[in-house]
Amino acid sequence: MPATLLPWQLEQWETVTSQVAANRLPHALLLAGPSGLGKRQFANRLIDWRLCALHDEYEEACGTCPNCLLRLAETHPDRFVLMPEEGSGQIKIDQIRAMVDWAYQTAQRGEGKFVLIEPAEALNQQAANALLKCLEEPPEGTHFVLIADTPGQLLPTIRSRSSTLFFRTPQATVATDWLGQQPGFQPNHSVLLQIAGGAPLAVQDMIEADYLDSRRAVLRVFSMLKNGESPVAAAAFVSQQLPDAVISVMVSLILDLLRMVRGDRNIRHEDVMDQLVSLADNVPELRWFSLLDYLVECRALLASGANPNRQLMMEGLCIRTAEAVG
Ligand SMILES: [Zn+2]
Repeated sequence: MPATLLPWQLEQWETVTSQVAANRLPHALLLAGPSGLGKRQFANRLIDWRLCALHDEYEEACGTCPNCLLRLAETHPDRFVLMPEEGSGQIKIDQIRAMVDWAYQTAQRGEGKFVLIEPAEALNQQAANALLKCLEEPPEGTHFVLIADTPGQLLPTIRSRSSTLFFRTPQATVATDWLGQQPGFQPNHSVLLQIAGGAPLAVQDMIEADYLDSRRAVLRVFSMLKNGESPVAAAAFVSQQLPDAVISVMVSLILDLLRMVRGDRNIRHEDVMDQLVSLADNVPELRWFSLLDYLVECRALLASGANPNRQLMMEGLCIRTAEAVG
């Protein structure tokens, strides 16, 4: 099965298919826009199609030709994926050099070659400069597809060497209709769309991670702490949840609390507004900033693979939260 074209990507697909028809597919295509809109899926659909031996007959990969079989076995020789190295979170110059060596060899299956770079923001300075050289004089028949949630973080010269295809959050009705057809979607999940800033694939991830359960637990903990209960008791209550989930919910709720303080009406957790209002009562803005800083530190610690003691981390979080809301 080829990667599905999502209903809010029709215009972008139309753009690339007409570029292909005119034999003008850009050497470097930058897929830009918020996460959770299926940019990677779109990139794969495009690359799979172009590498398929029957690409002139269909507008998607056939799934059965030898090229498609190689792809399905993840051994297609004309496709190169650049992703951050584990641990460092960066795409480094050695990876670009390996790609360049590969790019100057002739395409083995005769349908051109594709490099997928995701996320392009992960290119470090040296790697970005090396890639830029490659984009300035692209190896014959090689196409680059870059994916970026925040294209503003890329070198301006990389952006200007690429043709940008923007992805935008779909209208709520389009997103809701699509979500309603996905397995596992329940009516109570519709509040997630707003929390996810309108990004439907982010909603799917949240469903999978039982986001609403985590939020219920975090709101309970907030209210326990606001009522003066002990941080240790609160930590015990929330310790059933994964620390990543707890932190992500807390960050999202605090951003909403800051929006409220500033009179911004664009509240994401609108369905629990009453609880947010009572929580924010008498809490100076600065305390939320300080809690937010602490949460970002905790998240970085978890991401670093340092494997911190989770119980202690949750207790630390509850102590900080108690200081903020008390
Ligand atoms: Zn095929």
